[in-house]
Amino acid sequence: AQLDTLDIIVLAVILCGSVAYFTKGTYWGIAKDPYASTYSAANGNKAAKTRNIVEKMDETGKNCVVFYGSQTGTAEDYASRLAKEGKSRFGLETMVADLEDYEYENLDTFPEDKVAVFVLATYGEGEPTDNAVDFYEFITGDEPTFSESSEPPLGNLKFVAFGLGNNTYEHYNSMVRNVSKALEKLGAVKIGAAGEGDDGAGTMEEDFLAWKDPMWTALAEKMGLEEREAVYEPVFGITEKEELTKDSPEVYLGEPNKMHLEGTSKGPYNAHNPYIAPIAESREIFTVKDRNCLHLEIDISGSNLSYQTGDHIAVWPTNAGKEVDRFLAVTGLLPKRDAVISVKALDPTAKVPFPAPTTYDAIVRYHMEICAPVSRQFVATLAPFAPTEDAKAEMAKLGSDKDYFHEKISNKYLNIAQTLEVIGGGEQWPAIPFSAFIEGLTKIQPRYYSISSSSLVQKHKISITAVVESVQIAGRTDALKGVTTNYLLALKQKQHGDPNPDPHGLTYDITGPRNKYDGVHVPVHVRHSNFKLPSDPSKPIIMIGPGTGVAPFRGFVQERAQQAKNGEDVGRTLLFFGCRKQSEDFLYSEEWKEYKEALGDKFELITAFSREGSKKVYVQHRLEEYAKEVNELLLQKAYFYVCGDAANMAREVNIVLAKIIAKQRGVPEAKGEEVVKAMRSSSQYQEDVW
Ligand code: FAD
Repeated sequence: AQLDTLDIIVLAVILCGSVAYFTKGTYWGIAKDPYASTYSAANGNKAAKTRNIVEKMDETGKNCVVFYGSQTGTAEDYASRLAKEGKSRFGLETMVADLEDYEYENLDTFPEDKVAVFVLATYGEGEPTDNAVDFYEFITGDEPTFSESSEPPLGNLKFVAFGLGNNTYEHYNSMVRNVSKALEKLGAVKIGAAGEGDDGAGTMEEDFLAWKDPMWTALAEKMGLEEREAVYEPVFGITEKEELTKDSPEVYLGEPNKMHLEGTSKGPYNAHNPYIAPIAESREIFTVKDRNCLHLEIDISGSNLSYQTGDHIAVWPTNAGKEVDRFLAVTGLLPKRDAVISVKALDPTAKVPFPAPTTYDAIVRYHMEICAPVSRQFVATLAPFAPTEDAKAEMAKLGSDKDYFHEKISNKYLNIAQTLEVIGGGEQWPAIPFSAFIEGLTKIQPRYYSISSSSLVQKHKISITAVVESVQIAGRTDALKGVTTNYLLALKQKQHGDPNPDPHGLTYDITGPRNKYDGVHVPVHVRHSNFKLPSDPSKPIIMIGPGTGVAPFRGFVQERAQQAKNGEDVGRTLLFFGCRKQSEDFLYSEEWKEYKEALGDKFELITAFSREGSKKVYVQHRLEEYAKEVNELLLQKAYFYVCGDAANMAREVNIVLAKIIAKQRGVPEAKGEEVVKAMRSSSQYQEDVW
């Protein structure tokens, strides 16, 4: 029923000949300018902007703040879309705020006639996202202290909440649940039901769309808002700078920030400031023709980056030339690709998500996620700019009919430019304001890789083990090619002598902006994780890592082999690895033998090959065979690790382990499950899954 309401509204809006323009993006993010903050951090002075949200809203005339707790950018996108929709449909004066940019002590002074929206992703084992840690600890703490001592402290605060979670994790959407509960306990009033999106079921976008319309209805009623005819207003003003060319030194051609532009890049390197790292070595580690898995060695010796075994490395991708060209062609921008433009935020709380002046080419190539799945809401908003009446009607239909959208767009894995090509029947779409793309497409996201080396063994070199994404799609002749992994494949080809690599017909600006990545470099930063070996090497460990899930465990075993060589007492080290065939994708098959030499009987590799023999054997089956030893090791407080596929494998391993414990200890299965739960809470059971 919720969807019906949504459909009617979408249709009505389109029929009015107007459009509700919803933005994605970071672009409303205030107070935090990734580029500016890089400079200020480098100069040692944090931006002097206010951290008082009530003051900020007063200063900028806002009555609705949308806070986000985001790790990969989706929550941030949803926050921006809600802000845009609140303004265009209900005339709310909205702003978006990064949770880490504000203090919470003064939330008790939040005026009664304003509203706060919380869009909160749950990360990993029910944890807050990095930018929401402080807020979470404050609000769910025993006795948060507020600036005034009214009772209840948040009696004036009206709020709306949406969570992004994954039902394959045990603590499903725990962020939004715990925060809502905490806010209500402090006296805040929740408007409508808290929404919950499920990435595990693949329904995040639809869950969000289904939640937001009843929410708007409830909010409009509570705040006495009137819905109005939504009109598209660009958030960004784009001006061509005829006096500049792409060779002018102040023009950004993809450099991530000013230091990179001026060639004075220096640390600290982090999520706002990548290190352009040399790739010391790269090789293919599958022994089969049609699939690729890369082993890369990233040299961090020239940076001040450091890592610990079990950490993640983030790779900043570059879009493939083929898709950049497609995007620029279908939007009519191809002749102007190198034109220099300035991009200015037209709303004081909006933020341009990349440095400017720049070129269309650089924005599309380095800053926008142009290959990602298309949002149905975004398609609806583009309808008025269609080149033909047919295309306009088709876009409207796609926007309002969920099943039709799935059939035509999602099931075919089309990206935005491919969608416009298909719907436009070959016509270009020059009427779409470029601002709409900046608003509606996600800022390109670095991709994480579990570091597959040990920092004890190679302190200044980070190994990556990455399968190159290539997905065959029914009804399409070309395969979907992963953005980052195919870029890495091209870098590998370059390193092996091809000056213009084009894996699968994808081309790249492989030497980067102004050739700054020449000599085979890739922008990276390191993210520290809690996925760690026990500090005492004599403790036993059990690792489950099929496919590229073996990545961190190569690091773990490498480390333990070194410790054994150093004469340390190393505990039992069991590794369950699975792949299709021994002869095709058995990762590091030779290396394990070396580690075995160093570790002797302490190390055992247990393999599961799913496509050999008549029956499919997976890691969880082999785990069952080792039930007795696994249970004994757990009783000796062995650490248990799972890495790789979150959707199926990790869940099954959890189930199997609970069964093993129940059977071996002669207790009911429910008790076995409890034991695993307790192991998780005490970090005896750790996951690194994606
Ligand atoms: P993307 O372009 O991001 O595509 C990925 C998938 O998204 C596609 O396969 C497809 O399912 C979907 N998709 C993309 N575009 C569309 C579209 N238009 N329509 C519909 N669906 C689409 N990977 C490793 O190989 N090794 C590791 O050690 C590793 N460690 C990780 C650790 C963590 C903590 C996390 C979060 C992830 C890890 N990953 C690892 C996964 C890695 O981060 C990337 O997700 C992966 O390499 C794919 O990236 P890509 O840019 O090549 O593909």
